Amino acid sequence: MACIICQIEKLRNEYPPHNVLEDCDHPSLTCLRCIVKNIDEKESCPHPSCGLSVGKHSKTTLLFKAILAKQFKEYESAYTPLVDIGGNNQYINITGLTGDSTTVLFYPSMTIDQLKGQIQQKLNHEKGRQKLLYEGKEMTASINLTYV
Ligand SMILES: [Zn+2]
Ligand SMILES: [Zn+2]
Repeated sequence: MACIICQIEKLRNEYPPHNVLEDCDHPSLTCLRCIVKNIDEKESCPHPSCGLSVGKHSKTTLLFKAILAKQFKEYESAYTPLVDIGGNNQYINITGLTGDSTTVLFYPSMTIDQLKGQIQQKLNHEKGRQKLLYEGKEMTASINLTYV
């Protein structure tokens, strides 16, 4: 599902295990990254119809930050769906978990290894430390993108 704030498709584990506050009476539709960012900047729940205040050092804030920190160790780059700009070449939008993003050229015969090479050039993430996710599944070096 896509986060209602950043509009990025995220995996289930990139959402909080429960709402920011017990008093929140809305579904948890904002990703952890947006929640933590909002708390750091405004000390409040990011949900548009909520806005209840949340302390930067509250237990929930610390828990959410800990979850994010753990995910960050597991993989540095997540990969959002293909963007078709027409013609023979397509571009793939790559969004890293650190929030940086870039667009890399994609061609049908490209391998995951070549894609990781492009990400390494653009975002400076070592190939070996990248984990590319597409629709929640990890893409391994042996698959050719044509079949993804
Ligand atoms: Zn978000
Ligand atoms: Zn709320």
